[in-house]
Parts: sequence; C-alpha cells; structure tokens
Amino acid sequence: MKPAGAREAGRRVRRGPVLRLKRGSPRVPAHPWIFKGEVADASAVEPGAEVTVVDATGRFVGRGYYNPRPGLCCRILTWRDEALDAAFLERRLADAVARRASSEASGPPSLGRLVWSEADGLPGLVVDRYDSVLVVQCGTLGMARRRREIEAALGRVLGELAVFNKDEDGPAQLEGFEPAHGWAGRAGPATVEVDEGGVRFTVTLGAGHKTGLYLDQSQNHRRAAGLAADRDVLDAFCYTGGFACHALRGGARRAVLIDSSLEALAAARQNLALNGVAERAELVAANVFDELRRLERAGARFGLVVLDPPPFARSRTRLDAAVRGYKEINLRAMRLLDRGGDLLTFSCSHHVPQARFEELCRDAAVDAGVSLRLVAPLSQASDHPVILTIPETRYLKGLHLEAL
Ligand code: SAH
Repeated sequence: MKPAGAREAGRRVRRGPVLRLKRGSPRVPAHPWIFKGEVADASAVEPGAEVTVVDATGRFVGRGYYNPRPGLCCRILTWRDEALDAAFLERRLADAVARRASSEASGPPSLGRLVWSEADGLPGLVVDRYDSVLVVQCGTLGMARRRREIEAALGRVLGELAVFNKDEDGPAQLEGFEPAHGWAGRAGPATVEVDEGGVRFTVTLGAGHKTGLYLDQSQNHRRAAGLAADRDVLDAFCYTGGFACHALRGGARRAVLIDSSLEALAAARQNLALNGVAERAELVAANVFDELRRLERAGARFGLVVLDPPPFARSRTRLDAAVRGYKEINLRAMRLLDRGGDLLTFSCSHHVPQARFEELCRDAAVDAGVSLRLVAPLSQASDHPVILTIPETRYLKGLHLEAL
C-alpha cells in the first residue's frame, strides 16, 4: 500500500514526515544506517516516527524509523515505497521465521534466534525463542513504540506463545526510552528447559546475559562436543556452562569451568546436574587471566581449551588494550594444550575484525612457542545471519586451532 503523497521509488515525495539527506549523501540500497551528519533536514519528524528518506533532490530513497537523539538517527527498513504498517511488520517477521524453518525438518526451531535486527530487515528488533517463550528485545525507539504491534504480529506468525520483554539498558538510554523488562500480557513460566542438540539447559527468564543463553555459540558448542571424547577440557569464560555441558556429554573425561560471576557458575552447576555430568566437572570462581597463569604454573594440560571472553573492545579507542588482553589469554591457553590438543578461541568485539584476531593469535603462538594448525575459522550460528553489505552483522569470530 502506498502512503499518500509518495510515488514510485526514485520519484519525488510530496507529503508525510520526510528526512532529506545532504547533497553528496547518495544512498544505494546497501546499508540501512543514516547518521546525523548526513541529514539536511528532518525537522518535521517526531522521535520514533516512520519517515520517508529522500535524497537532496527529493527522490525517494527508503523508509525507516527516526530518532533525533542518537548519532545513528535513522535505520532504513525498506528500500521500496511501502508503508511500515502492521502488515509490513508481520511480513518481515514471517520471512525471518520461514528462513529458519526451511533449514529444520520440523518447522520453526524451538530454540534459537528468530529475528536478528538488520540481518532480518528489522533494525532494532531481536526475537529469540526458548521453547514456549519468545524473548523480545527492542533496541530503538522506533521498535519500542511498536511493541504491541510486534507482539500481535508474532502471535499471528507463531501462534500464541508467552512473550517476555528484555530490553538492554544501554541502547534504551541512548535512544531515550524506558527499557521493558517482564512479561507482555499473560505471564509465562519462571524458567524453561531447552534442548540444544541433545544437551539440556535451564533458562531463567529475565536473568543472565543476552536473552538468556549465548545462542550465537550453538554451532560451536556442538563442535566442542565432537572434540571432547576422553579429553580433559577447559571452558574459560564458561557463563552457564554451554561449552562444558556439550563437551562432557560428548565424552570428556573431565571439565574445568572458569567464570568470575558466581551467578553464572550457579546456573552452570544446575545445567551440569541437569545433564548428569556434574561429577566430572570442577567449577572455579576466578579471573580467567589469573587462573590461566596459575594452571600454567601448576603444569596443567588439556586436550581441549575454549576461550570465549566478553567483548574486551567496547569501543574503537579501547582496541589496543583489548588486543593485548586477547593476546595474553590466547598465549596462556596455547601453553596449556596437550600435543594434538584443540583450541576454540573467540572474540565477539565488533571492533576486532577477523584478520586482526587471526594476527593476534599468530603473535600469541609465536610468543608461546607453540605451532598450531588452523583447522577452521569460526563464526556465529547461522540463525544470526551475516549480510554482506552490512559488515556490522558479523561480530562473532573465532579460530579452531590444533597444537602440533
Ligand atoms: N561461553 C559462554 C558465554 C561466555 S560470556 C557460553 O557459551 O554460554 C562471557 C563470560 O565471561 C561471562 O559469564 C562473564 O561473567 C565472564 N567473565 C568476564 N570477564 C571475566 C574474567 N576476567 N574472568 C572470568 N570470567 C569473566
């Protein structure tokens, strides 16, 4: 349906809230972000409102949600001349779900990311499914304003599942809205038990990081299971035990789990018990930097080491310090590997590209005096798709290395 006043793409747009780009800011349908510096005029647009983006000559570029508060003031949702109404949201949600369902024999997956923001043409919206519960995260004012419409559309696409809102404080503050936290409408269960490739996890709604689990690691968790048989495994930055549970179920002799968060370790302990592997696990509440050094001094060795730290580089200016941190833990981990042992090492920092990560691992290997074969580059799970023209959609990178 065409909104009043707007004609075909590339033609002049006459009415409705308009954001006019500066001359020299031509847009091709590639990247949806518009920064304040590119905007000539958006004075008639309400914060959070739908806006038609036009170039300096008035030609239609796309349509998105506008917010004058953050530097990234508009994210384009469509490059076509269509209204961003409830039907549009439902179409985009249905497409995102259908993409995931087509790779599963049994329809939409019961665990995993169903909607991932820019990568699914819905910038500012994340929807994760934990069995009978959907966890929704709005990261822009535009999406937060349409929460009810999104919930209704999700109901039409997926059937009536309980919806838990879990907005992150950072983006909400940046965008200027009250982060939603709690059930939308009827309350669902306090906890859900989910199955990730045969391994069980308990998720407490509203607790912990992200929407509950690190779903982006689901495929790498399975890789760890396949490498673990009859080995001693080190799961550093274990959170609720994703890698260790998979490794122990995959036949690991024993696993050492390290995290500095007591809350995360308590949940890990519960997950280990749920999978019947607790007696082969040792949980260590410590700073990984210190504990790796201690293990090295103690002469410990492992057949599989996983390093899955939080983002050390939260901004570009912190990059050098972050690289030093990554290098340090990788160097120490490499020294703990048995001959023939495997290292799965990750960085989820947006600001550390794959090539830089590989380079710092190379430096660490040289300093550690360890020769390693690159078995495979690693990435985020395929339900967190990467859009070629939106490099920001690729954030989790890793290496599978084998000690020679
Ligand atoms: N591997 C996990 C996700 C790890 S998230 C999974 O697959 O589910 C990163 C974890 O690192 C968090 O649980 C956080 O508490 C922990 N952490 C952050 N800094 C740390 C440090 N210096 N030492 C130990 N743990 C740390």
